[in-house]
Amino acid sequence: MINFTVGPVQSDEETLSIGGTQVPYFRTKEFSNLMFENEAFIKEFFDCPENGKAVFLTGSGTAGMECSVMNFFSDKDKVLVVNGGSFGHRFTELMEIHSIPFTEIHLEYGQELSSEILEQYDAKGYTGMALQLCETSTGVLYDMNMVGNFCRKNNIFLLVDAVSGFMADKLSMNDMHINAAITGSQKALALPPSTSVIVLDENAVQKALSANVKSMYFNMKDYLKNMERGQTPFTPAVQTLIQMNDRLKRIKQSGGIQNQNEIIRKRAEYFRKQLTSFPFRMFVPESYASNCVTAIEITGGPLNAKELFEKIKNEYGIWICPNGGDLAEKVFRVGHIGNISNKEIDLLIQAFKEIYGGK
Ligand SMILES: *Cc1c(COP(=O)(O)O)cnc(C)c1O
Repeated sequence: MINFTVGPVQSDEETLSIGGTQVPYFRTKEFSNLMFENEAFIKEFFDCPENGKAVFLTGSGTAGMECSVMNFFSDKDKVLVVNGGSFGHRFTELMEIHSIPFTEIHLEYGQELSSEILEQYDAKGYTGMALQLCETSTGVLYDMNMVGNFCRKNNIFLLVDAVSGFMADKLSMNDMHINAAITGSQKALALPPSTSVIVLDENAVQKALSANVKSMYFNMKDYLKNMERGQTPFTPAVQTLIQMNDRLKRIKQSGGIQNQNEIIRKRAEYFRKQLTSFPFRMFVPESYASNCVTAIEITGGPLNAKELFEKIKNEYGIWICPNGGDLAEKVFRVGHIGNISNKEIDLLIQAFKEIYGGK
């Protein structure tokens, strides 16, 4: 199978070969050193401010989102949540579950977060903001420079879910005034699912240290304290963290995060340029489309999006990425993260040609 979903994505050979080895004991100096390296690379790749920290949490990206909400916000806060799709909606659910006062900025699927929309919330006493870098359900990329400036001006704590956007799109905690950002192992890092990484600036560290969190597993204090000796409070996904170490080192050696941005951007461009001969419309205009994924609206032909997913899976051995909810029949997605070659993209385009008779 060729996998064009947005996670889990295709791993490379090096990652796969580590996956086939025994899991070592981890309360050792050797593993601690590996974790210190992981933290240093992650901080560098997020462009995290000097005294920042990273938390490695066992759980998928949603665990990272929930842990962040529980440790950075409380019932004393007033949080702005951007809901432009299923992951934005997840933040609203988390705020509800944890009784955190919030206002939802509701966007239509595929709508841009404009400065006009954001300005309505200027000087209204908000203390926090939570949104995605890339809203993976539609592929919308939010203008994080604009959001960061807005938050700085209003003294708002900015939490960014960069689970899918990290590596695919530009992300700089320094330049974008981001206090905390999240990613997950099964997106562009192209590792097995299991681990969520939360990167904290000094302000976020202080918040976590003073938070009153009613949870054992999601108490960030313990992770920060343990990370001082390169450890986690509980057994982590040891193998994924070893694979992460190898992957981060290789990213560093091959031109760092800028180079990864460039590879993924070019891959998205290579794919998008070939869509014009099919009854497809890019669901999000290029000007604010994430490099992570292309959402495509079907405008004609015999198949709806669900049927196209099934046909391509069953007859061509390729997974494209279906949409859920209201968009399930109209829209499908093609991911650009993970170990995907242009040759594999050509096979997908060939499948479209056979189905639609394009040139
Ligand atoms: C994948 C993803 C998550 C996490 O989803 P899990 O299924 O919990 O890994 C969170 N936010 C965004 C934007 C994502 O793309």
